[in-house]
Amino acid sequence: MAEPGTAASGSIAVPAAPTDEGTRIPVTVVRGARPGPVLTLVAGVHGSEYSPILALGRLRSRLDPGAIAGTVVLVHMANLPAFQGRTIYLSPGDLKNLNRVFPGDPDGTITERIAHVLTEQVIARSDFMMDIHSGDGNEWLRPSWTGYYAEAGGAEVIAQSKRMAVAFGLDFIVEFAGDLDPARPVWCGATAVARGIPSIDIESGEMGLIEDHRIEPIVDGVLSVMRELDMADGAPSPAPNPLFIRERYYATSEYDGVWEPDPCVVAGQLVREGARLGVVRDYHGNPLTEIRAPGDGILLILLGTPPVNQGETIAVVARVP
Ligand SMILES: [Zn+2]
Repeated sequence: MAEPGTAASGSIAVPAAPTDEGTRIPVTVVRGARPGPVLTLVAGVHGSEYSPILALGRLRSRLDPGAIAGTVVLVHMANLPAFQGRTIYLSPGDLKNLNRVFPGDPDGTITERIAHVLTEQVIARSDFMMDIHSGDGNEWLRPSWTGYYAEAGGAEVIAQSKRMAVAFGLDFIVEFAGDLDPARPVWCGATAVARGIPSIDIESGEMGLIEDHRIEPIVDGVLSVMRELDMADGAPSPAPNPLFIRERYYATSEYDGVWEPDPCVVAGQLVREGARLGVVRDYHGNPLTEIRAPGDGILLILLGTPPVNQGETIAVVARVP
């Protein structure tokens, strides 16, 4: 849609179905003057994760098509209904999590049809991909990190994904374990990997906050990866000594109820296994259970608002190798 050396913004249609009127996916295609790979950046899979959405808006004006090689596809907002509806985790129309339904279904609900359009029209046409997230509107998340599938997609895809993760420049790199089912990769990034496309996930930002120190590292990281891939001039700025995280521990709630973190507990801090993080109460304020650190390590994610459902994750701790 864009001529070489130009950029174009528009939307990809997600057609209507008997259940709903469909939606659209706002995108920008920056087509460099010189040939090169297609790098796709996805923001807004979760509509209340604002750092990636704002970062792609900034990148659009930072990318000079005359100066780059290859094509950058910016998916500004994968889940427009969730953004406009201000929902966390789930789309408002069908209460499904877009990042759990890939590769989607052309005859499915709105969320499944968004995933299908993204898979077929965007991801399948990419050579490299980044799926960019933050803590959702109710999650504290620190520090920022990149992640990649360390055991899926074959040696070359793994090596290229790791190369991207390191080049992005964040100090923490999470290595996802396990293989993927190509027929049902579930996650957006996994959909790329299952198709032989190197891909990384990024997490930067938290709690619906608009903070430059969470947004700018995304902009810088994308530019650094573009330099690593020879899509932009200059040297990349990789993390000099990143910490690779293989193992993560999850604390979940056994109850529906009211989560109240202890005041001294903050994401990013080191915790000992068993350290108290807070309490889940019933709706009248009676304590139901204490939540404790599920392992020794860095508290990566901490639920930041009171609503909690049975089975949901309240805290994620990364084991420090
Ligand atoms: Zn997310």
